[in-house]
Amino acid sequence: MSELLLRKAVSTGELDREDIIGLLNIEEPEALSRLFRSADEVRHTWVGSEIFLRGIIEFSNYCARSCLYCGLRRENRLLNRYRMDKDEILAAAMEIKKHHIPTLVLQSGEDPVFTGPEIARLVETIKRDTGMIITLSVGERSFTDYRDFYNAGADRYLLKHETADGELYGDLRPGNHLSERLECLSLLKALGFEVGTGNMVGLPGQTLETLADDLLLMKRLGADMLGIGPFIAHPDTPLRDAANGDLNMTLKTLAVARLLTKTTNIPATTATEVINPGGRLRALACGANVVMPNFTPTGYKEGYAIYPGKTATAPGETTLSKLRKNLGIIGRTINFASGFRVKP
Ligand code: SAM
Ligand code: SF4
Repeated sequence: MSELLLRKAVSTGELDREDIIGLLNIEEPEALSRLFRSADEVRHTWVGSEIFLRGIIEFSNYCARSCLYCGLRRENRLLNRYRMDKDEILAAAMEIKKHHIPTLVLQSGEDPVFTGPEIARLVETIKRDTGMIITLSVGERSFTDYRDFYNAGADRYLLKHETADGELYGDLRPGNHLSERLECLSLLKALGFEVGTGNMVGLPGQTLETLADDLLLMKRLGADMLGIGPFIAHPDTPLRDAANGDLNMTLKTLAVARLLTKTTNIPATTATEVINPGGRLRALACGANVVMPNFTPTGYKEGYAIYPGKTATAPGETTLSKLRKNLGIIGRTINFASGFRVKP
């Protein structure tokens, strides 16, 4: 790997498709640690050393879509479905607040019972009762819904583009088009949301070129948050026999995302921990700066099985003392501020 290329990435954040493929191709251990160190240095320079927390509540595992990779897909009849009611969601939000975490993420499958007005009312109530920063991650909705969510007090929206390869996207999400997903992202941005996007690393049919396009798309969209995690095969989906995403490729993708975008908020995802225990801490050492402790109540959490092993990770991760201890190992501390993106 050219030292020059890395230096260019660190100082300008400008990399073309070929440069990115070159970085993703790195296998040699010394070159790999240089890439990771560079991303860590950029993270330190632009967003500091502290880790921001977002408490996540997975409030419904019903979904009307059929994404081939996801355990919540509507065809999965083996899944016990649940919906939390308003009081349960509010109680979980209060629990997050009690831990002094200022941001909550409300995530679900695309559940038609949670209509736009229903979610807007929920946001309004949580905002009024807790004053917290609210992130929604409830999939593709109409402009009117997004506008109502924003007016109700939602601050951020997470909608991963999943893959920048339109054909692969259509194969993996039958009946859906990448252009519609991108249209949603641009509506959300225009409305004033802080917007998150991202991909899965190791999807069957994905190539290094696809990953490079993912990274360029994340930069082009001007996304504020980037969710980058490995694909994990779910036994009750059509992709049951596919190989899981690879930890090193996930970390390389994350490191290049940091080099390209400098000030974005990048979570160390649960999926990274699932494919390799300790993976989350490694992600924090090569560009990530956010952790999302799970506050879905026991009894529901097990049902949010988008991939296997998800609920078994980091037992007690909602215990902040445990998280603090783990972060201490890599010399990082928690910042309890809202952690909006620092504009460059
Ligand atoms: N339904 C909403 C959506 O699709 O945007 C939000 C919930 S969805 C479960 C959240 C994320 O889970 C997706 O963006 C996708 O990247 C991830 N996901 C789904 N199945 C996965 C799998 N098998 N491995 C890794 N990540 C997966
Ligand atoms: Fe539904 Fe989201 Fe899973 Fe697709 S990824 S099946 S939209 S929950």
